Amino acid sequence: MPPRMTLPVIELKPDSRPIPAEQREEVLASPGFGHHFTDHMVTITWTEDAGWHFARLVPYGPLPIDPANLTLHYSQTVFEGLKVFRGPDGNLGAFRPEENARRFQASARRMAMPELPEKTFLAACEALVAQDRAWVPSRPGHSLYLRPFMFATESGLGVRAAREFLFVVIASPTDGYFAGEVRPVSVWVAEEYVRAAPGGTGAAKTGANYAASLMGQAQAAAQGCDQVVWLDALERRWVEEMGAMNLFFVYGERIVTPELTGSLLPGITRASLLTLARDLGYKAEEARVSLQDWRRDSADGSLTEVFACGTAAGVVPVGSVKTALAQWTVGDGRPGEVTMRLRETLRQIQSGAAADPHGWMREM
Ligand code: PMP
Repeated sequence: MPPRMTLPVIELKPDSRPIPAEQREEVLASPGFGHHFTDHMVTITWTEDAGWHFARLVPYGPLPIDPANLTLHYSQTVFEGLKVFRGPDGNLGAFRPEENARRFQASARRMAMPELPEKTFLAACEALVAQDRAWVPSRPGHSLYLRPFMFATESGLGVRAAREFLFVVIASPTDGYFAGEVRPVSVWVAEEYVRAAPGGTGAAKTGANYAASLMGQAQAAAQGCDQVVWLDALERRWVEEMGAMNLFFVYGERIVTPELTGSLLPGITRASLLTLARDLGYKAEEARVSLQDWRRDSADGSLTEVFACGTAAGVVPVGSVKTALAQWTVGDGRPGEVTMRLRETLRQIQSGAAADPHGWMREM
């Protein structure tokens, strides 16, 4: 066990700004997703001997990398994504960061990496947000996306777990993945490629899963679809998730999301929507959903809506589905009532426009 560190010691460097302050407003007017980064970052080192130590808040900038760095070769890396919103009275709140801290630990365990204590994860996020507060957008729907990540910093070519890691948090103002009006997405169902297999790393937020997904996403684009949907690896029968989002199926008052099989990511938005749906009086459950059900139930009208959810884009309707052999529309192909209701309920909690009955917003 590495020695435990209570709170990071933050070393403040002289102010430096990769983006000049006078350009900040221009960037915040249309930030896109993941294009611009704030002035600082937090880094914390882990070594086998010393555990977590040397926590610093430093100007955002490149990290030196050795060509034999283990991450470059064997992908020992994990990450998180969470958002900080500016409330109506200017206060800042992060959405369920404790959940991200816990998932980060679970991902690290799976990837044979050291676990960062939850309070250190939270303290690192808080320190960065406190320093770069001016970068938290105030426009509706916009937010500051935090990207905590950890990777092996040791060099060598032997295949084994590294003995040195760096934890980093960077931040990027965003208007969301799918900006503008709520437009239903079209999906392509990958039947040739799989994203994750039983016993694999699908439930961990690790870079290799995303690398494995790129060909499927490219095929979706070639088929004229917005996003790829993944099936289980063994039977290619059960629906798992969509791109970087989880899926929900709406049968009138009953809402179903694919159960956590170990090969899909346990989304924090997914868990939150299960709770919110129950609050609103729907019957919300986790179960297996087959591609065949999706098609049949869309055709007979019992499946009224499908939506995807995740931190980056919130709740997004799925309008149409395409496979190698078939193509169909969900409902009337337009954003459904339940989808929009859940989307709004979540957005209002996050923006501070509505009460936060479950205490999900953590003041930053
Ligand atoms: N699935 C995958 C593969 C993802 O990358 C994400 C984004 N983290 C999600 C689902 C949604 O998870 P969350 O709601 O925690 O953002």
